Order: sequence, then C-alpha cells, then structure tokens
Amino acid sequence: MNEHIVKVLEAKFITHDVKRFVVERPQGYDFLPGQATEVSINLPEWKNQLRPFTFTNIKESNYLEFMIKLYNDHEGVTKQLGKTNANAELILHDVFGAIQYKGPGVFIAAGSGITPFISIFRELYKHNLIKGNRLIYVNKTSEDIIMGQELQRLLKNNFVNVLTREATVGFLGRRIDRNFLIENIVDFSQHFYVCGPDDFVKDITKYLMELGANFDSLVFEK
Ligand SMILES: Cc1cc2nc3c(=O)[nH]c(=O)nc-3n(C[C@H](O)[C@H](O)[C@H](O)COP(=O)(O)OP(=O)(O)OC[C@H]3O[C@@H](n4cnc5c(N)ncnc54)[C@H](O)[C@@H]3O)c2cc1C
Repeated sequence: MNEHIVKVLEAKFITHDVKRFVVERPQGYDFLPGQATEVSINLPEWKNQLRPFTFTNIKESNYLEFMIKLYNDHEGVTKQLGKTNANAELILHDVFGAIQYKGPGVFIAAGSGITPFISIFRELYKHNLIKGNRLIYVNKTSEDIIMGQELQRLLKNNFVNVLTREATVGFLGRRIDRNFLIENIVDFSQHFYVCGPDDFVKDITKYLMELGANFDSLVFEK
C-alpha cells in the first residue's frame, strides 16, 4: 500500500458539521471523479487510523479536495479532523472506488453521499457534458445541504432538493421511497448513481430494480 504525506493547505467549515479540506496533490497521484482514498492524520496516535473519503475536485486540479462530515459524538477520526487545520499533515493511501460516470442518468444522494457526485458534476460541467443528468439530493434540513448553490448553478432545473425534516418552499418535504421514485422518474432504463448511508443505498437500489432498472445500469459502492 502506498502512502503519501500531504500538507493541508486550507480547512474551513462549509456547513455546521462538514469541513472542506484542500491538500497538496502528490505527483502522479491520479483518480477518476467518484473515487476515494483512505486518509489518516499524520500524528503518532492517529496515523494508523485509516478512513475512506472521496475526492471532490476535478481530475485536472493541482490540489486535492475533500468534504468531510464530522461526527463529534465520539472520539473518531472525523472528530479529530475538526481540530485539523492548515499546515497539518494527512496521509493518503491508494485510490479506489466503484463510482464513476458511465453516461447520462439520475444521481440520487443522501447527506455526505453527495461527495463523489460533486467531482463528477464539476468534471462534466467543465467539459460541457452535464446536460441530460439529474440530481435528487436528500438531506434532513436545509442546513445540511453540501454545496447547494454550486450544484444549483451546475444543474439548474435538474436539481431536486429533498428535505426529510423540513417543508420549505422550493424543496420537497418528504422521504425518498418507492412512490417518490415512481412520481419523479419517467425512464427506468437509464443509468442510476446512488450514494449515501448503507441502508439508503440498499433501499433505493432495491426500489429501482423493482421499478425496472437493470442491475448493470446501477452505479454504487458495491
Ligand atoms: C468509499 C467511501 C467514501 C466516503 N467518502 C466520504 C466523504 O467524501 N465525506 C464524508 O464525510 N464521508 C465519507 N465517507 C464516510 C466516512 O468514511 C466516515 O464518516 C468516517 O470513516 C467516520 O470516521 P470516524 O472515525 O469519525 O467514525 P467511526 O468511528 O469510524 O464511526 C463511523 C460511524 O459510526 C458511528 N459511531 C461509531 N462509534 C460511535 C460512538 N461511540 N458513538 C456514536 N456514534 C458512533 C458514527 O456516527 C459514524 O456514523 C465515505 C465512506 C466510504 C465507504
């Protein structure tokens, strides 16, 4: 397993519990939008605690970017990342991940599950290929939405914001269930990209297949 020690260049909160990290990019360290790596913090007591995080920058950037949800309710890596700022060091490992763009389709994300899609949408937008893609993004409240303004700018009308604990004008106040998919998706023969908590991915992929989606057209971390 390769290890790359990189310096944190920037670290800032982008929601109440999500922090954006910009870090150095090691030479020749390549990835495809949607992929991830295992990250640890380069401190004696933390360097062996590896956790997976997804790159949110585009392939061409000369830096790497992560957007990381912090769990402050226990002494894990993300709580420690809350105290990690510019000039600290992280250790990056090998690139992995099954999520990558296969063609136009519907992206369904919950919470921090948006991160692989941020990289994919930014890359598609840069190459003028974003047309024909649609995002359904579910969060508990509007405070939890990650990069909402940018996603709106990239996707325009093809951005469906769903808030499960808030019924705000302009957002759909409900859960994504089988009926939601029937009402919001016309064509089940296209690609579907699904990312979020394990149960969310399990439920959504099950509903999609029941509604006629082909397993081979489903893209998720298997
Ligand atoms: C391929 C992949 C890519 C990912 N990419 C991203 C990303 O880009 N951004 C992102 O934010 N996340 C991402 N994740 C999720 C991220 O890896 C986890 O949130 C992270 O590993 C949590 O690390 P931790 O040490 O803080 O928590 P861990 O100790 O590893 O715990 C993980 C989970 O268990 C719960 N938990 C465990 N123990 C306790 C406890 N004692 N009390 C309360 N709760 C507890 C936490 O709430 C959390 O949900 C990704 C996951 C995968 C598999």
